[in-house]
Order: sequence, then C-alpha cells, then structure tokens
Amino acid sequence: MPRTIIAGNWKMHKTAEETGAFFDAFLPRAAALPPEIEIVVCPPFTALALAASRTNGTRVRLGAQTMHWELEGPFTGEVSAPMLLEFGVAYVILGHSERRAYCNETDRTVNWKVSTALAQGLTPIVAVGETLDERNAGQTDDRVIAQTRAAFDGIARNLLDRVVLAYEPIWAIGTGKNCDPGEANRVMTVIRECVSGLDRTPILYGGSMKAENAGAYMERPNVNGGLVGGASLDPAGFAALVENAKV
Ligand code: PEP
Repeated sequence: MPRTIIAGNWKMHKTAEETGAFFDAFLPRAAALPPEIEIVVCPPFTALALAASRTNGTRVRLGAQTMHWELEGPFTGEVSAPMLLEFGVAYVILGHSERRAYCNETDRTVNWKVSTALAQGLTPIVAVGETLDERNAGQTDDRVIAQTRAAFDGIARNLLDRVVLAYEPIWAIGTGKNCDPGEANRVMTVIRECVSGLDRTPILYGGSMKAENAGAYMERPNVNGGLVGGASLDPAGFAALVENAKV
C-alpha cells in the first residue's frame, strides 16, 4: 500500500512571522493527529529557515513549492536542490498548474526537475491535471497520461517508489468546486496505470480539499492523501483536515 500524505501548499502566503504563529498553533495539535499520516508543509522560500527551526524534531516534514533543475548557475531568482536540502527540505512540488500557467513550467522542465530532485535525494510531488476546457472536450485522461509519462520519461523505474504524484484538476484549485471523489479516484487510477512502476507511489488529490470533504476522498482506493492549498493556511482547519483524512 502507498503511504498516506497530507501536504499543505501555502503558495505565496505567510511571512516568516506568520509562519511562526502557524506552527505555534499547529504543532501542539499535530502531536495528537493520526500517526500513520505523513504531514508535509510547503511554505514560501523566505519562510523555510523559520519553518525548519520550528519543525526540527517534530513529525512535520518540509517541502518547497518549486526548484530549478540545475544545481547552481546564472538563473536569477531561482533556488536549487542543494539550497533546499540545507534547510532540511524533504519534498518539492514540481509542475504545479500555477507554475505551468504563469512561470513557464513545461512537461520538459518538470522532467528535468524530477531527475535532479531524485538525484539529490528530494522527493518530488509531481502535479498533473486538466483545464475545464480539456475536461469538457473529453480530454482529461489524455492530458494526465501525457503529463505523467513526460514527467517520468527516462527516469529509472526503480526510482518511482521515491516519487509522489498529485492529481489536481485545474478547475477545482482554489474555486471551492472540488472534483467528485469517485471521478477523482477514476482519473487517479488512470494515472497509476499509465506508467509501470507506480503501484506503491502515493497519489494525492488536490483541488478545494478541506476538512469537510477529505474523508470522502480518502475512502477511495486510489487516493493516498491530499495536496491542500487554501485549507492548509489555518492551523486548526488544517489539523481538522488531517484528522478527517484518517482511513
Ligand atoms: C493547490 O494549490 O495545490 C490546491 C489544491 O489549492 P486549493 O486546495 O486551494 O484548491
């Protein structure tokens, strides 16, 4: 069975000071949450140092929201895998739809980044998903299959145990219109089966997941957790979501 992960993607939210306040409230709650669920928080780069100092020695693991595929070089504004590792970062989200839409992330750069992340010992959380137009045109499966195959092109099959996938229908992100859990599970099955070696890979659902609907996703056999945006910002709400993700 793949392990269960709930990962909070803070996007461009929270200063270092606000990050400290989040952990003041969240860490006492985290200790009482179901131990089998891995809890990951992905703050902005500027809050990583503070987040690392607060989560050190706790069950909360740190993730970053993106990284460059090169280890160093003339890439103004970018951050590399070794820079993340210095803060004890374990996970990195790659190919989030917002980065694909606004920051020139492509299937090809996601593939390069997956390769670098794995070589450097980071666990990539690879996000795939369709737009509303693609869904309405009946292209959902083709889209996620193409993104998944491209992300892992040339990656040794034995490394696929070390990756995490997230199915995030773009029309469900930040809209409050979450995907029907049965449909999400169907697409996640398509994703799992389109590349050999993903049997034990955790696949997370992302798209307006919150405490009230987390349980309905987690009941489905191919859902191994959540990638959570808005509902990960409030410590009590995020703790309630993790609690409700218990299967
Ligand atoms: C996300 O940013 O990956 C996400 C799923 O956001 P939200 O939970 O706010 O829809």
